[in-house]
Amino acid sequence: MSPDYVLSVVDVTKTFGSFTALQGMSFHVKKGEILGLVGPNGSGKTTCMNVISGSYRADRGSLHFMGKNIQRTPASKLSHMGMNRTFQIPRPFKGLTVRENLQIAATFVRREAMGLEEIASFIGLEDSLDKESGMLNSTQQKLLDLGRALATGPTLLLVDELGAGMNPHELDITIERLQRLAKQGISMIVVEHLMSFVRQLTERVIVMNAGKEIFEGTLDDAVRNEEVVRVYLGG
Ligand code: ADP
Repeated sequence: MSPDYVLSVVDVTKTFGSFTALQGMSFHVKKGEILGLVGPNGSGKTTCMNVISGSYRADRGSLHFMGKNIQRTPASKLSHMGMNRTFQIPRPFKGLTVRENLQIAATFVRREAMGLEEIASFIGLEDSLDKESGMLNSTQQKLLDLGRALATGPTLLLVDELGAGMNPHELDITIERLQRLAKQGISMIVVEHLMSFVRQLTERVIVMNAGKEIFEGTLDDAVRNEEVVRVYLGG
């Protein structure tokens, strides 16, 4: 594996019974790169994220993170190693405050990470540290999810539908924040339906259909690709 690769996925297959959800997926993520993972509903994006993050085990193929084989590494261990994810539906501890949520995430870290105050201001929740997280609006809960991932000092962030439900202003700020993280060397895989979000964030996307990669390149080239257009139009 090239030393520039934070994550390397080679020929990964995942089946559920007789159904093949991922078929021979191969790609890599470089340091500080934001890679977009796009494709129609049911194409396998979430399954791919679940296999990478250790929630599912691949049936075949190899997965390396920071040069280490992670095929059998559970999600909790991956978090210690520097891989973390945000969820489509955020999962804060709702009875706890913003500060407590960030503190809990930070206790899992052995690496250098941003301080709690710095994270709170990075995600725009510096005035809500003592608020119960269940009282936050949906965008703030998503940002808290991002903050909790940051508190662990990640090398690779798996970002699942972070932009969904945000207004245009919130989207702009979120894009700018993620770009700042990438500049600090944090790599990301972004699964997102909002194409404007993907276009602004990524130089490279992988388009999936029926569990396979059908295109790799810029989003602008993807939308001109015949096969990509066909799967999006459902033909
Ligand atoms: P996407 O995220 O692109 O919408 P998914 O990865 O969620 O796609 O789903 C890909 C396919 O795998 C779908 O047909 C889905 O029904 C199937 N699938 C995902 N998870 C499971 C599971 N745990 N058991 C059975 N089938 C699953």
